[in-house]
Amino acid sequence: MTEPQTHFIRDLLSVEKLDALIIFGLPDMRYLCGFTGTDGVLLIRGDSSVFLTDSRYIEQAQEQVKADQIHSYKNKLAAVIKQLSTWKCRRIGFDAAAVSVALFNELAGLAKTSLDWCPLTTQLRSLRGIKTTGELVALRAAANLNQKAFAAVLPQIKAGISEIEIARELEFELKRLGGEANAFDFIVASGLRGALPHGVASDKKIGAGELVTIDFGTRVDGYHSDETVTLAIGKIDRKLRQIFDIVLEAHDSALALIRPELPICDLDATARDFISSRGYGEYFGHGLGHGVGLEVHEYPAVSSHSELTLREGMVFTVEPGIYIPGIGGVRIEDTVVVTKDGFECLTSIPKQFKQLSL
Ligand code: ZN
Ligand code: ZN
Repeated sequence: MTEPQTHFIRDLLSVEKLDALIIFGLPDMRYLCGFTGTDGVLLIRGDSSVFLTDSRYIEQAQEQVKADQIHSYKNKLAAVIKQLSTWKCRRIGFDAAAVSVALFNELAGLAKTSLDWCPLTTQLRSLRGIKTTGELVALRAAANLNQKAFAAVLPQIKAGISEIEIARELEFELKRLGGEANAFDFIVASGLRGALPHGVASDKKIGAGELVTIDFGTRVDGYHSDETVTLAIGKIDRKLRQIFDIVLEAHDSALALIRPELPICDLDATARDFISSRGYGEYFGHGLGHGVGLEVHEYPAVSSHSELTLREGMVFTVEPGIYIPGIGGVRIEDTVVVTKDGFECLTSIPKQFKQLSL
């Protein structure tokens, strides 16, 4: 583990008075020990750690995992209980968000002595909240692929192409450029479908005079990109242009505020109040953004409910939108990192109004 990780875990063990911590969730597991496979479990005690996986992954684990011991299991939960009893642990913390009730009941049922199980939720949320230089390298690389892929696909975006074709072309380019996987099902929503904030690409053809919202991202070394552009296909009517300009101004004014110590709820309020002041508050129904890292949606949520302040190294999106049923919608999204005295925009596709020729 890195120094900040060791600190975080040591504090957690001491504050929660835990004898050991079990990590079942893959992103936290990868973050703490480097394992990129899809099945394993990490156990951490004050001074040592053990990684357990099945025989499919044992070789990979031996190459990747930074833990004091690595063992394979036939039965994962039995192996966990055995390790806890070897360590003579009594009070055990685990990442409750990654464990189903069924799994937990099975685990607790296997213990021969009564253990004190401590489900951790909020206590673990900020574990990956501050990105390291190395993580930022991967996040920048993923964002760069977005820009390159978009530049390659842009000439094909015109009236007559279907939403799903745009999504497929972007996916193809991102993979050709080295992206590991799509960050999520791409959203390509044109015309009236633009009113669906999560309008996954359909076979609808894009028409002249429509706006098309394209929300896409990829993954590099496990880290995601997430970015949204809204484009005009030929000349659009005044109302759509007005909505576009309002969303862009909300986006720009929120970005301009970003610096350490800014309350996150203020950031959300800046964009939201601006959109409301123009009469479209009811059409901006989601939070302003979300953290991005080993998961495409992670800590910190950027919303009006947040009680956090920004800290240097936090990576998150700023993505205001207006979605009007029967008319259409606009979203504009960038992913940023908070720096010592402001922010760096990781995503780089230009967001100003762009009218494509037919
Ligand atoms: Zn997005
Ligand atoms: Zn997003």
